[in-house]
Amino acid sequence: MPLPSQGKIKRAEQLRERINYHNVRYYSLDNPEISDTEYDALIQELRALEAQYPDLLTPDSPTQRVGAQPLTEFASVEHRLPMLSLSNSFSNEDLLNWYRRANMGVDNRPFDFVCELKIDGLAVAITYENGHLKTCATRGDGLKGEDITQNLRTISSIPLTVPKDAPPRFEVRGEVYMPRSSFVRLNEERAKQSLPLYANPRNSGAGSVRQLDARVTAQRKLGMFVYALGWAEGISMPETHWDTMQYLKSLGFKLNPEIRLVKSIEEVEKFHDIWIGNRAQIDYDIDGVVVKVNQLRYQDILGVVGREPRWATAYKFKAAQGITKLLGIGINVGRTGSMNPYAILEPIVVGGVTIRQATLHNEDDIRRKDIRVGDTVIIERAGEVIPQVVGPVLEKRTGNEEPFEMPKRCPTCGSEAIRIEEEAMTRCPNTACPAQIYENMTHFVACMDIEGMGGALVASILNAGLVKDSADIYSLTKEKMLTLERLGEKSASNVIGSIETSKNRPLATVIMALGIRHIGGETATLLASHFGSVDALAKATEAELTMIPSIGPKIAQSLLAHFSNKQNLELIEKLRAAGVRLEGAPPQKVEGLLLSGKTLLVTGTLDSMSRGIAEAKIRELGGTVGSSITKKTDYLIVGKDPGSKIEKAQQYGVKQLNEHEFLKLIGEGK
Ligand code: NAD
Repeated sequence: MPLPSQGKIKRAEQLRERINYHNVRYYSLDNPEISDTEYDALIQELRALEAQYPDLLTPDSPTQRVGAQPLTEFASVEHRLPMLSLSNSFSNEDLLNWYRRANMGVDNRPFDFVCELKIDGLAVAITYENGHLKTCATRGDGLKGEDITQNLRTISSIPLTVPKDAPPRFEVRGEVYMPRSSFVRLNEERAKQSLPLYANPRNSGAGSVRQLDARVTAQRKLGMFVYALGWAEGISMPETHWDTMQYLKSLGFKLNPEIRLVKSIEEVEKFHDIWIGNRAQIDYDIDGVVVKVNQLRYQDILGVVGREPRWATAYKFKAAQGITKLLGIGINVGRTGSMNPYAILEPIVVGGVTIRQATLHNEDDIRRKDIRVGDTVIIERAGEVIPQVVGPVLEKRTGNEEPFEMPKRCPTCGSEAIRIEEEAMTRCPNTACPAQIYENMTHFVACMDIEGMGGALVASILNAGLVKDSADIYSLTKEKMLTLERLGEKSASNVIGSIETSKNRPLATVIMALGIRHIGGETATLLASHFGSVDALAKATEAELTMIPSIGPKIAQSLLAHFSNKQNLELIEKLRAAGVRLEGAPPQKVEGLLLSGKTLLVTGTLDSMSRGIAEAKIRELGGTVGSSITKKTDYLIVGKDPGSKIEKAQQYGVKQLNEHEFLKLIGEGK
């Protein structure tokens, strides 16, 4: 057996460390730093080294284990049978090799194949006992996962009960996913609130399931497809995977409708090729197809190697890539002063979309990948909204490329930038920086839903010196607005009208509008219902904050820092003086509130307020905002262009209210 050199030993160590780091970012934090293609290349390199030098294979190598340690915020669930990963095939040749090995493993006896779509979501195991759902767990490290029962109970495609003739105890396995349409909607909402966008449905789906507050999961409109029976007591198992799946369907589980039983490996290839073209037409992301040996007795014979069953393989799709020139690296100054580099590209079409810009994450990432201005670079889109720069094509270097230097000064205000090591981030420290003020103000206006005031108008009132901060918006008058070029009488009156209306927004909206770091809509709702006023929140101590579930030290620190800043406190005083409501419903009166115990849903667009504000009002008045229509829904609020919820409401006899009736219900109608 060949002995590895010091260099190889070192490289294997390095690879293990890097893969483990990316596993945590991907599986635990739902926030990967590198593309799947890059990750797969690291794993393949480590695998090849371990195959060549078996001495390098350590029991804790990431090639031997799936996922990452479960997060400690959740109770842990031990899997009765390990939850495995899948071997990967990247070409027809890989697929044929897999088939030959499987065929040899069963002494060349013939078998069928089941072809399934490889749903790009989060693997979960769900157990049932005596007809009822008992626990739901993530895959975790394959042996132990996180208990996410409360969260998954909110997903309507997961049955809470099963028919009487179901096994007394059993476990199903499947993939939870976020439909693309829900993902786009979620990002649209986040963009309106100037919150960072989620990269892809997989990350936001996995993040949505691993929330400490199940209400957040409920709002995210997730789905689930079952793809295996983990184990079952008290029944004799069917003979094939296909029959098992049909049995699960008869128990009420949702199978992916594209599942196929085929007889030959050529048909498997065809299934894969068809789905390369069809994948854009379905409402969920898939990253390949999975092929499984149909006969369960052969699956037993073939068994498992490391973390992968020999009886199945994932034939992955290639990510859409393109090659273009990196013309420059721009810097975008965010609301909190973060200086974010982005790639300015020679336009290129990748996967049917013209790409002009791509993310570069941060300075360290640019240095690690050695990306230089003038480089020919590889761009990848693997379902992400924002494409990534994979790296430079080194062979194309001419020697004229320029290494990137993070500017020492803010490109907008010229202040000396500071580098925050633990966040791998460079920041403009000047809260009076025009870029930050602009970003903060557009965030404020979007949250407070001030109709007619978009980014362009915010820029105009800032440039004209009519306002200096968000609170100054309330000092605008029609006369002042009319001094702006290209703003007519009618528009000016409308904007002033909507500024006036915005003074009475729900407390959660105001808290979010303040633009405190790490505080999005969901956390703001929690804080509003807990503290009842901006003043009480501003006075809260670290201990009081961290006592609230879902509020960790990072959020607490951010709140403390925000409310200890003199300028921020002055802004709150200005808002108060302008008549902006800084109080919500007192938490102790929840029982007796107008909508206590009622569940409402909003569909379509309302004239007088955004859907987000309507929902915040419902919550503020003690009501619950449902995620889908059920028999228990009390009211469906119907705006313009309503969705399919109306039909469901009719089916369940749920009372429908138009906007006028809704306003009357909440005491705002005439
Ligand atoms: P995998 O995603 O390649 O395959 C196994 C998983 O496929 C199963 O656990 C299951 O959840 C899922 N699956 C979907 N449809 C299925 C079906 N019909 N039948 C069976 N299983 C189905 O393996 P993995 O171990 O979860 O992850 C490895 C992959 O994740 C890598 O190839 C990489 O693409 C990605 N990853 C990326 C990073 C990163 O930093 N970008 C880090 C870690 C992992």
